[in-house]
Amino acid sequence: MNVKDVLCCREYGPCGKLLGNQLVIPVFVSTPRRSWNQAEIDDVFKQLYEARNQLYSCAMLYRINVIIEYAYFSFKVSVSHRTDGQWLTELLKCHFGRDSLSELSYYYAKDFGKDGCAFLFFFKSKARSFACNATSNHPYWVDERAEISVDFASNEGVAFTILHELLHLYGAVDLYYPTQVKEEAAKHYPNSVMYRYLGWEIDSLNAYLIGWTDTLDQTAQDFINVFDNVKSFSPPSVGI
Ligand SMILES: [Zn+2]
Repeated sequence: MNVKDVLCCREYGPCGKLLGNQLVIPVFVSTPRRSWNQAEIDDVFKQLYEARNQLYSCAMLYRINVIIEYAYFSFKVSVSHRTDGQWLTELLKCHFGRDSLSELSYYYAKDFGKDGCAFLFFFKSKARSFACNATSNHPYWVDERAEISVDFASNEGVAFTILHELLHLYGAVDLYYPTQVKEEAAKHYPNSVMYRYLGWEIDSLNAYLIGWTDTLDQTAQDFINVFDNVKSFSPPSVGI
């Protein structure tokens, strides 16, 4: 797929536009090897509130109304190996009685009277956090999902990771991969949350992708036009 098409397509996020009243459900997934306790969940909630504050600050700059409400679940799954996605199948089936995450999101959005619903899955581990979206060619892709790993040796960056992965669910794309995208982002969007670790800005391209603007501004156009004829093997959809 052409990189330019990937970068300006608004259809990738499983959760639609990041507008109006949104329900975000953190799910704390305990595995046989690592389980969550309440104090740790409370700690993550501080990071969730921080991420929400940062999001609200960005929304104000775009004059966007968005309200995020959190609800949460805590579950134990029998699968200890995360990467094959089996934990999600088990969790959906055993705890929610559903076949897919999108079905579950739709149910909760409706039940809570919200415009949309996003799930964030938290694991206690040092592994990489990532979001797989609908177009991902991740070999173990099961459903649209965001996994966030929390290593309690260092809480640094958890709020940033939450915001970054949450934006993916609403269609934001990574700007640090592949290399040419990264090089251009360094020029156009050096402080974007989708470009660099602990960058907190929502750049104008991603603002368009998540539904905060309806047109690409000049910076976004200049940025994507660089990729007119650039091919890539995979969309920039799996990241930090
Ligand atoms: Zn990413």
